[in-house]
Amino acid sequence: MKDFLNFINGVYVPSSAGKTFDNINPVNGQVIGRVHEAGRAEVDAAVAAARAALKGDWGRLSVVERCKLLDALALEINRRFDDFLQAEIADTGKPHALASHLDIPRGAANFQIFIDTIKSTSTEAFNMRTPDGKTALSYGVRVPRGVIAVVCPWNLPLLLMTWKVGPALACGNTVVVKPSEETPATATLLGEVMNAVGVPKGVYNVVHGFGPDSAGEFLTRHPDVDGITFTGETRTGEAIMKAAAEGVRPVSLEMGGKNAAVVFADCDLQVTIDTLTRSCFENTGQVCLGTERVYVERPIFDQVVAALKERAEAMKPGDPYAKDTKIGPAISQEHQAKILSYYDKAREEGATVVTGGGVPDMPDELKGGAWVQPTIWTGLPETASVITEEIFGPCCHISPFDSEDEVLAKVNNNRYGLATAVFTQDIARANRLAQQIEVGLCWINAWFLRDLRTPFGGSKQSGIGREGGVHSLEFYTELRNVMVKF
Ligand code: NAD
Repeated sequence: MKDFLNFINGVYVPSSAGKTFDNINPVNGQVIGRVHEAGRAEVDAAVAAARAALKGDWGRLSVVERCKLLDALALEINRRFDDFLQAEIADTGKPHALASHLDIPRGAANFQIFIDTIKSTSTEAFNMRTPDGKTALSYGVRVPRGVIAVVCPWNLPLLLMTWKVGPALACGNTVVVKPSEETPATATLLGEVMNAVGVPKGVYNVVHGFGPDSAGEFLTRHPDVDGITFTGETRTGEAIMKAAAEGVRPVSLEMGGKNAAVVFADCDLQVTIDTLTRSCFENTGQVCLGTERVYVERPIFDQVVAALKERAEAMKPGDPYAKDTKIGPAISQEHQAKILSYYDKAREEGATVVTGGGVPDMPDELKGGAWVQPTIWTGLPETASVITEEIFGPCCHISPFDSEDEVLAKVNNNRYGLATAVFTQDIARANRLAQQIEVGLCWINAWFLRDLRTPFGGSKQSGIGREGGVHSLEFYTELRNVMVKF
């Protein structure tokens, strides 16, 4: 049985209160490890270590020296690619093909991209004349914000964690990471990588546990944390914002979505169906950017429904390491139950179940896993819960539309505003819509294609702030103005 320990001041430490919880493999429901829950004592120690590191060796490093360490981190993650891959797969059950192409490479890239950003971003400078005829030169200096609390979800554990830790370290901060209770492995493993490449102790710390009355709350309420970056559900983000109000700490929030896809009759159907298959079902629909509402122009509605049905039915669930496995389980029995409750609700609300709607038949050794069928519905009104609420499962509702205005109104009629994908050959129409859809990210004839220099984040209840490229500097640094009179 593997023990997942907290990582504080460069050392792995167990729970001082002797509290542990099970780490469960969602593929078969088996316990694969024991996670050591951090109490207030561990969180205090982690924050103190992070504070001390700011004033120690780490705080004295130049940008170039910090960048060398970031580069070494990326190289060491790649050197230990298989360890990270196995840890991520054991925690999440996601197919090997997906984790090896997305999660682990992006985990390494998230350290590398911010080397360029931090080395090449300048600050502003203004000269002005003073009333007494002298000159005043103002210039900006970016300084680290301090100790950053990093609170992460379970769907892309290494990728989303390093998306925050990378820029935080590039900017000279120190971090205390609270990984999801469902996926403790890769954050723990990253501690070994930090030590191996010589990142000073206390710069990267990990505390395990849950949210309320556990490590998550202790960390986000901690008075010595200078900023909180969070990815997860909107209602958790609300709780974290309240915690951050004490002491007026800044927050960066990446939260839920109810993302739409808009398909016009002139689209490239092959590209559209390929892309929708990924956006609706990849990672078992557990991607914040995933599509759960599809709007299709009426002339090709039946064609799109039939094509996506065929693709959904070809998504073979199974062992993550099997070559023909296309879809993994939900992250946990609890999340499986949540997804299935929406499958029931859709039926109660009168949906036509085009495909799926339940649990797939699995071989005996996988029956204990959190499996759900890829599911497609049609026929529901816009008020139906599966059209308005985030499910975070491999499912979508498909509705027909007749005009651009109609579809725009429908897409925008939601409290979330994370992402949209528009499929059409009419580039003017695509751009017109993209500029009116109330989201942080809009793809045209694509989905989840990322240039890490660009702003990432949500509008409305999907988030506050943008991360990526220079935009990450807004959160991870404090911009100080210096004015000199001469
Ligand atoms: P979650 O909000 O349940 O948990 C996220 C993290 O917050 C976990 O580490 C959890 O322990 C912690 N937490 C929970 N309550 C807390 C509290 N009161 N105080 C402090 N910490 C607390 O989210 P999840 O179920 O892990 O992830 C799924 C959600 O994440 C979905 O809503 C999805 O849309 C969202 N998400 C958003 C993005 C994005 O970039 N916008 C990316 C991935 C996932």
